Amino acid sequence: MTDLNQAALPEYRSRAVEQTEIDTLVVGAGQAGVAISEHLSKLGVPHLVLERSRIAEAWRSGRWDSLVANGPAWHDRFPGMEFDLDPDGFAPKEMVADYFEAYARQFNAPIRTGVEVKRVVRNADRPGFTVETSAGVIRANRVVAATGPFQRPLIPPIAPRDERLMQIHSAEYRNPQQLPEGGVLVVGAGSSGVQIADELLRAGKRVYLSVGPHDRPPRSYRNRDFCWWLGVLGLWDMEVAQPGKEHVTIAVSGARGGETIDFRRLAQQGMTLVGLTKAFEGGVVSFQADLADNLARGDENYLALLDAADSYVARNGLDLPEEPEARRTFPEPDCVSEPILELDLAAAGITSIVWATGYAVDFSWLQVDAFDEQGKPKHQRGVSSEPGVYFLGLPWLSRRGSTFIWGVWHDAKHVADHIATQRKYAEYRDAGQRRDERGACGQSASLSGVS
Ligand SMILES: Cc1cc2nc3c(=O)[nH]c(=O)nc-3n(C[C@H](O)[C@H](O)[C@H](O)COP(=O)(O)OP(=O)(O)OC[C@H]3O[C@@H](n4cnc5c(N)ncnc54)[C@H](O)[C@@H]3O)c2cc1C
Repeated sequence: MTDLNQAALPEYRSRAVEQTEIDTLVVGAGQAGVAISEHLSKLGVPHLVLERSRIAEAWRSGRWDSLVANGPAWHDRFPGMEFDLDPDGFAPKEMVADYFEAYARQFNAPIRTGVEVKRVVRNADRPGFTVETSAGVIRANRVVAATGPFQRPLIPPIAPRDERLMQIHSAEYRNPQQLPEGGVLVVGAGSSGVQIADELLRAGKRVYLSVGPHDRPPRSYRNRDFCWWLGVLGLWDMEVAQPGKEHVTIAVSGARGGETIDFRRLAQQGMTLVGLTKAFEGGVVSFQADLADNLARGDENYLALLDAADSYVARNGLDLPEEPEARRTFPEPDCVSEPILELDLAAAGITSIVWATGYAVDFSWLQVDAFDEQGKPKHQRGVSSEPGVYFLGLPWLSRRGSTFIWGVWHDAKHVADHIATQRKYAEYRDAGQRRDERGACGQSASLSGVS
C-alpha cells in the first residue's frame, strides 16, 4: 500500500506557471484532473493541470465537517492506490482530499495550484486555444475541462425572501452549531439532504425533511455493500438514466459505519417528513401531496435491488447468507398517512432552511463551440463537438459511475487515449515533409496541429 505520510512527499503549493505553451491543458485538480494527469503521463503527453485553489478542494472546503465517503474504501478509490483504512470503512472527507494529493505526488503530476483559468478561446488563425489565466496567457493544443459536476450550488426560485429565516445551501452547511436555535426545514432528500437532516435530528433539532423522488439502495445486503451489487449487476455501467428517472437522487450514507437510508425509521426517531416543497407565501410553506408516492417508489427501487441480488446469488450458486430481515418495513408514520400540506413557519418554530437541492455547472470561461442551445456540453464520452476540447466528471458522461471516484478514472483513460491518438494524426508527415524535415535537421514545431 502506498504511504500517505505527507512529510515524505514533495509539496503542492501555489506556484507560478512557467510554461506559456503546452500540448494539453487540464483545468481543475479534483479527482477528474488528477485521473487524467495520470493517464496523460503514462502516454507521454506533455500537459499541465491548473487548479484555482488546492488539489481536491471540493473535499476540503465544499463539504460538511462530518462527511465520509458514500462508498467503502475498497471501492471509492483509484486502482493505483489504497486508502490507509479498513477496506470496508468509509473515508472521512479530509482523508479523501489527502488521498488525491498523495496520489498526484505519486507520479509527480504537473499541477499548479492557485491559478484560475479565466477564459479559453479557439485561435482564429492557427491551431489550438488561447488560455487566459490569473497567472498569464498560455497557448494549448487541447483543453480538458475537469472542473467538476457540482460547481454552482442551486437554490430554486421558490426560496422565500424572509430575513427572519437563515437559508443556506448544503454546500455551505458545516455542522448543527452553524444554525440558529429552533426548527429547520431541509429541502431535498438525496445523499446530502438526508445525511444533514439526520445529523441535525441527532443534535436535538426539530427537523422537517422535504422528500422528492429518490432511489434508496440497501447499504448492504447478504454481506455485500450496494457498491458491489451495482458493480456485479452492471448498474454502474448504465449509459443513460432510465426514462423518467433523470432527476431522481440516490439516498445513501456512509455515516456511522454505513447504514441503509430508511425514511420511516427517521420518522420514528422524530423527523417530520413532507412531500416536495411547492411554494412559500405569507410565512406559510406548502408541499405537494406526493410523499407516500415518493416513499413507495423508493421502496420499489430498494426491493428491486434485493430481488436482482437474490437471483444473481441463485444463478451463480454463491454462498452468501440469506437476509430476510432486509425486507421488513417500519410502520407507516403519521406524517405519511396524514401528510402535512401546509406549514406556518413561525408557528412550527422553523428558523432556518437548508437547501439540499443540487448544483449546476458553469462553463462561462470556456468560450468555444462545444455547447447546445441550453448551454449543455455536446460530447461523446467526454470528447466534445469542438475538436481539442474535452469534458470529464460530468453526470452520465459515459455511464452512471462517471461522477464517482472510480468511474471518472475510467472516463479519463478514454479521453487520454483519444488525445494520444489525435497527437499521432497531428504528428504524421508525408514523405516530402519527412525529407524536408530531415534536411532542416529535425526542427519541430512546438504547437502541432489541431483542426
Ligand atoms: C456531498 C458530496 C459527497 C460525495 N461523496 C462521494 C463519494 O463518497 N464517492 C464518490 O465517488 N463520489 C462522491 N461525490 C461525487 C464526486 O466524487 C465529487 O463531487 C467530486 O468532488 C467530483 O470531482 P471532480 O474532480 O469531477 O470535481 P471537483 O472535485 O469539483 O474538482 C474540480 C476542481 O476544479 C477547480 N476549478 C473550477 N473552475 C476552475 C477554473 N476556472 N480554473 C482553475 N480551476 C478550476 C475547482 O477548484 C476544483 O478543485 C460526492 C459529491 C458530493 C457533492
